[in-house]
Amino acid sequence: MIALRRSLLFVLIGLPMIAANVCAAPVEGGQHKTKHSPVFTAAYGTKYQFDPRMQLYLSGIVNHWQFGIADRNPAILAMFESRNKPNNGRLLPWSGEFAGKYLTGAVEVLRLTDDRQLKAYLERFVKTLVGLQENNGYLGPWTKEHQLKNTKPGTGSERYTWDTWNHYHLMIGLTKWYELTGDEEALAAVEKIGTLVCETFYDKPNVLLDLAHVGWTRGSQEYNLTLAHSLMKLHQIVGEARYLAMSRQMIDEALLSYGNYLKLGVAGKPFHRATGFDSRRWERVHILSAMPHLYWVTGDEDYRKSYETLWWSILESNCHNTLGFTTDEVAIGDTYGRGNIETCCAVAYNAMSVDMLKLTGNSVVADVMEVMHLNALRGAQDISGKWSTYHTGTEGIRKPNTVDIGFQNRPGSEELNCCSVNTARGFGLISEWALMKDETGLILNWYGESDFKTKHKGTDVRIAQHTSYPGDGKLQINVAPAKPTEFDLRLRIPFWSKNTKIKVNSEVIPSPQAGRYLSLNRQWQQGDVVELLLDMTVGYWPGEEGRGDHASFYYGPLLLAFRPELPAEIETIGEIHPVGPSYKSGKPGAAVKFKVPGDQFKLYCDKDPDAGQIGVRIDGQFTEKIDLYRPRPEVPLCTVFDNLGPGEHDVEITVLEKSEKSNNNRVRFRIIHYDLPVFDLTNFRWAPVETKDDSALVTIECTAQNGDTVNLVDFDSAGWNDQFYVSWLPVVKEKEGTFSKDNPLRLIRTAR
Ligand SMILES: [Zn+2]
Repeated sequence: MIALRRSLLFVLIGLPMIAANVCAAPVEGGQHKTKHSPVFTAAYGTKYQFDPRMQLYLSGIVNHWQFGIADRNPAILAMFESRNKPNNGRLLPWSGEFAGKYLTGAVEVLRLTDDRQLKAYLERFVKTLVGLQENNGYLGPWTKEHQLKNTKPGTGSERYTWDTWNHYHLMIGLTKWYELTGDEEALAAVEKIGTLVCETFYDKPNVLLDLAHVGWTRGSQEYNLTLAHSLMKLHQIVGEARYLAMSRQMIDEALLSYGNYLKLGVAGKPFHRATGFDSRRWERVHILSAMPHLYWVTGDEDYRKSYETLWWSILESNCHNTLGFTTDEVAIGDTYGRGNIETCCAVAYNAMSVDMLKLTGNSVVADVMEVMHLNALRGAQDISGKWSTYHTGTEGIRKPNTVDIGFQNRPGSEELNCCSVNTARGFGLISEWALMKDETGLILNWYGESDFKTKHKGTDVRIAQHTSYPGDGKLQINVAPAKPTEFDLRLRIPFWSKNTKIKVNSEVIPSPQAGRYLSLNRQWQQGDVVELLLDMTVGYWPGEEGRGDHASFYYGPLLLAFRPELPAEIETIGEIHPVGPSYKSGKPGAAVKFKVPGDQFKLYCDKDPDAGQIGVRIDGQFTEKIDLYRPRPEVPLCTVFDNLGPGEHDVEITVLEKSEKSNNNRVRFRIIHYDLPVFDLTNFRWAPVETKDDSALVTIECTAQNGDTVNLVDFDSAGWNDQFYVSWLPVVKEKEGTFSKDNPLRLIRTAR
C-alpha cells in the first residue's frame, strides 16, 4: 500500500502546474485535476434571503460583531505589527489564530449576506493583514528566533506558542477570501506561508511533532499537523506538488508516531480510541479535514474510509443531545458526559460535516447538520450578534465567553477569545450546505421561509419557500427557472420524517423514503410548485448511563427544553435588586426570602474576583455559607439543596461580609426551584400550541405523569434572556434507543 502511494505521488509531482486565475474574479476551489470529484459541491454565487429570525441573527453577527472588529479590538492585527516589540509577550499561545478564524467565518457569512459594508471592511482587513506578512512568508506575532518554533520570549510553560496552528487558520481564512473574491494578493500570501512551511518542514514531518509540548500547550505538537488541510486546499488551487507531498507526509508518516488517525479509521475504530488523552482533543478534527481532499486528489480509498469512520464515531459517541461535540474539550466516548460543551468544538465538527456531505452525498449528514445548527450552534450565539458562549450546556444558563473564558481577555482585544472569533462559522457554514449542486442539478438541504436565487448550467433558477418550518412541517416550494429547463432537484427527506407527503403541481408522488434524497428530475418551468409535508411527530432519545430514566424530546429537528418557573414570590430585604431572573447586591445584610414548594432548589451564583459571600437558611436553620470569590470569572457555581422533605420550605439568602481574598462583596445569583415534570412515555400526549409572544420559536404542550400540563420550547429559545433550562427530562419508559446511520438521534416516535 505504501509503495502504491509513493508511485501515485510521483505521477502527481510530474503534472504541470496550473497557473492561478489572474483576473480579480471569484473562483471556486478544486480547479486542479483530481482523481475523484466531490459528490456535491456548494452552490457558490447563490443569493440568499432567509426567514426574519435567521435574518436577525445574520444582521446581528454582521453589524455587531464582524464589521469593525479591529476598531474595537485593534490587537487582532496590531499583534503582528508589534512582533519585534518586547511587550508583545503577554499574548496567549493561540492569539495568532484570531485573525484567521475571524476571517474564515466572515467570508462564509459574506457568502450568505452579500453585505456590501462587510465586504468593503474585509477588503481593508485583508489588505492590512497581508501587508503585515514578512518577506519570508511569516505571519505570526513573534520575533525571528521564535518563528514557527512554537516558542516566545519567556520561561517555563510561558515559553510555548501555537504558532504553526495559527498559520493554519490564517491560510484557511485567506484561501476562502481568495475563493470568494479572486484577490491575488491574498492567494500570494497563502502561497508564501505554504513555501515557508515546506522549506521548514518538508521531508522532516517529525520535526513538527517535536515542537513544543508542555504546560498550556500540552499536546500542541499535533495541532501543527493541521497544516495538512490548508496545504491541500492550496494545492487544489495552484497545483504545486510539494503541498500535496507534504500533506501526505503529515497524514501518512508523521501521524504514525502520534495518533495515526488514518490507520485508526481504516481499521473501523472510533476517534476517541486514538492513543493518548491529547489525541482525543477537538483540535485534531482539523487534521482529519485533510483526508477528503487527499482522497479527491490521489484517489486513495483509505483516506475516504478513515474519514467516514471517524465522522460517524464522533457523532455516535461524542455528540450531546444538541449535537454539540466534546465534553470538556475532549472526545470522551460518552454522549451523556457532564462538562463543558465548547463552541469551538461544535464549529469544528460542523465544518468536518460539510466535507462529509461533499464526500458521500448522504442526506443524513445534512439532517445532522440541520439539528446541529438549530440547537448547538444557534444556542451558542446570542441573536444580538454581540456575544456568544464558550459552553452551551444541555441544561443551565448561557453566559458570554468573555466571562466564562475571561482569562483570554487582553488589552486591545477585550472581546476576543478562541470561541468568540469562531462562533459565526456556525452560521457561515450554511453557505456550504444549504443549497448544493452536481452535474445533474440542485440539492436543497435548507428548509425554512426563504428565497434563493442560483444558477443551473448558466440558467437562473429561483427557489422560494413559503413555510413556518420548523414551526410546522408544511412547506410550499416554488421552483422557477428563467426558462423551461430540465434538471434534477433533490429534496432532503429527513431521517426523522417517517410519513412524508409530497405533491408536484398537485400530483401526488408516492411516499418518499426517510433519510434519503428524493429525486425530482423533470423539465421545470415558472409556476411549478412542490408541496412537502414533513412528519414532525415528537420523538424521544431515551437516555442511558449518566442519563438513565431521562429522555430528550425532539419536534422535527428541534431539541425541546423545559424552562422551570422562577419562585412565584420573592421578598427582598434591604438593598438587593432583581436583574432579569437574577438578584444582585453589594450590601451585607440584604436578603431575599421565598418559599420552596417541593423537595429541592438550586442556586446559580456568578464567580469572579469581586464576588462576596452569601449565607443560606432553610426553615430557620443556617445551612450553608458560599464564598463566590474566584481569581478569574468562571462558569457559574451551581449549588443544589435537595432532600428538603415533604411540604413547603422557607428559604432565606443573605449577603454576608466579603471574604478576605475578594476585592469586593458583590453577589449575583438566581434561584431555580422545581420538581421536574415526569413524563410517562407509555402514554405520552403532546400538541403544538400557538404562543402569544416571541418567547419561543416552538412551544409544545405535553401532559406530565401527574396530569399537569407542561410546556416545552425549542432549545435555542429556551436559553434566551438569561433563562434557566433543562433538556434531559425524567421519564418512565419501556423502550431503549439504538444509534444507527439511519437514526443517529436514537429516536423513538411517540403517539400524538
Ligand atoms: Zn473556543
